[in-house]
Parts: sequence; C-alpha cells; structure tokens
Amino acid sequence: MTDFLADYQAQLAALYEQPMFGLRQADKQQQLLPLLRSLHQHHLANSEAYHNMFAEVDADNWQSLADVSYLAVRLFKLFSLKSVPDEQIFKVLRSSGTTGQTPAEVFLDRDTSARQSKTLVKIMQAFIGTQRLPMLIIDSPAVLKDKALFSARGAGIQGMAFFGRDHTYALDENMQLDLSAIQAFAEKYAGQPMLVFGFTFMIWQALVEALEQQGNSLNLSQGVLVHSGGWKKLVDKQVDNATFKARLAKATGIAKVHNFYGMAEQVGSVFVECEQGHLHAPLFADVIVRNPYDLSESAQGEQGLFQVLSLLPSSYPGFSLLTEDLGRILGEDDCGCGRKGRYFAVDGRLPKTEIRGCSDTGASL
Ligand SMILES: [Zn+2]
Repeated sequence: MTDFLADYQAQLAALYEQPMFGLRQADKQQQLLPLLRSLHQHHLANSEAYHNMFAEVDADNWQSLADVSYLAVRLFKLFSLKSVPDEQIFKVLRSSGTTGQTPAEVFLDRDTSARQSKTLVKIMQAFIGTQRLPMLIIDSPAVLKDKALFSARGAGIQGMAFFGRDHTYALDENMQLDLSAIQAFAEKYAGQPMLVFGFTFMIWQALVEALEQQGNSLNLSQGVLVHSGGWKKLVDKQVDNATFKARLAKATGIAKVHNFYGMAEQVGSVFVECEQGHLHAPLFADVIVRNPYDLSESAQGEQGLFQVLSLLPSSYPGFSLLTEDLGRILGEDDCGCGRKGRYFAVDGRLPKTEIRGCSDTGASL
C-alpha cells in the first residue's frame, strides 16, 4: 500500500465520526482538501491514464475545492480507468447506457465497494431514519435476474434494498402494475411507515400514469418515496418536480418524497433532496458548477455544468468528475431544513454536443 493510500484511509476513518450534514462549507472544505490531495497522489502512482493527464498538477496548490482537477465523465466510456491491479478487482459496474452506446465501466475493489455501501447507508439514514421499513420497489424482479449485465439499475435496487424489509415488487415481469401485490402490501402495513423506492421515470410512467389511466388510486399515505435516475425523460414530457410530487400524491397518497442525484461513476456518495426540495452535498462529496463554455466556476444561482467530488473511489480515478448535467448552486449552510454545506438543483442534461474541455481533458490519453 502506498503512503498516500494509508493517509487517505486514516483521514477517511476520522471523517466517518463526523455528522453527515453538520459541517459548514468552509470547515468542510478544509477537511476534504487533504483527502483529495492524497487521492490525487494515489491515482498518479497507480493509474497510467490518470498520470498521463495530471502528472503536471501539483495538488499542494489546491486552495479550494474548485481548484481540484477533474476528469470528463465520458472518459469512463472510452477507457478502462483503474488504479488497482486486475486481480484486486472485485466488481465491474456498467452503466446501462442507451442502445448503441458503449456503457461506462467502473472498476471496484473490495475497499471501494465497502466504502460505497457504508457511506450510502449513513447518508440515507440522515433522511429516512435507521429503522428498516417495509419496502415497495416500483420495478420488476426481472431487472435483478439479468446476470449478463450487472446494470446500474439492478445495482441501485440492490443498494437500496438494504434500507427495507419484506421487499415487494410493484411491477410484474412485463413491467405492468401488479395491483394485487401492491394492495396486499398496502393492507398488510396500513397506518405504518413504509419505504417506496424506484427510478424516477418508472415511478412516473409505470405507477403514476398507469394509475391515472386506469382511473385507480392507492393509499400509501404513510409511505416515504426515495427515487433517482434523472429527469431527462420527464423534462421531455414537461413534468417538473412540483408536478411530479402533486400527481404522485394524488395517485398514491405519498406526501414525503426524496429524490436523489448520483452517478454510476461515484456510487455511494449521493445527493439527496431535503424537505425543502433542495439537493444536499453530504460530508463525503461536493458539487461545483462550471460555465459550459470556458469551464470557469459559476456564481451561486448561475446555471452551468456540475463537477462532482467524491472521497470514496480509490480503485479508479473517479474522485473529481466533470459531468454532462446542468444545474445551479442554490446556497451554502442556510437551507431551511437545517443541514449545512452546499445545496443545489439539477436542471437537466447538456444537449448531445461535444463539451469544450472534454477534448482537452482527454487529449493526452
Ligand atoms: Zn435542505
């Protein structure tokens, strides 16, 4: 093990002792920077591709999180990026990717994978509590049976399943609503808190729209919905978060909703929507918004491209990524929910054009 990795692991262990949303941004930045510097050194020493791109970068010059160098996320579709020997790779996560596109490949060793699970648990518990609730999954069990591809969707369901018990699938093998299964679940746990989980578009199409079309409704009023997976398809249908919540509540009775934003390339460090409807950066991650044209840091409130930081990956160089998602920083340390640090909104995805800078960041590969 390199010294950098040992340093990183010791610092990380200390960070797990801190509250997930308790640090003010300035203090959080001071805690994160030394870890990010260690990760940079570790990946320089262990990933040839990372070394080719960032050998000139001196992490000691990083004074703020916005100084941290970043990798365009699409490089995970083009190259095998890893910082561990092949024999230590424990799992390869492939993002589902639309037809005809190469999926991104993310190489996990046991340490990175364990860290992802541990952190996801701590973040989600800060929103839904520590008790394992009866869980309704708005998907088909067929998704998990497809062993050919360990998809991000299957991994997402597996990851979230930890937070529930008596897992019940709301859709059948043909992705149609299994009303009898849902009603049996709703009756069994009537009046009790329950967890409902699914991907945003599935919730919308297979649950909300399907119920509306059937003229049906459910009583899941004690349910807490956790959902993720991007708004692109809903933006195309002109459904925003407020519409989503209003029609969900009408069709199912669910009033508590937590959307979360995260990337297959940074599993575990997710950004969860609070009671005020804002996405929050947890202790182990952060968000910077950049102007899509010159990649300078955008001011608060200005729309731009997200750069996402995560302290979790050591088996692949994914701790700082420039995404193709657009959004805005809404504020720091002053959200009405009481959580500290940065909070933000996702607006959508950059249209399918080449991002300036991607070619720069990838050039020396
Ligand atoms: Zn909040």
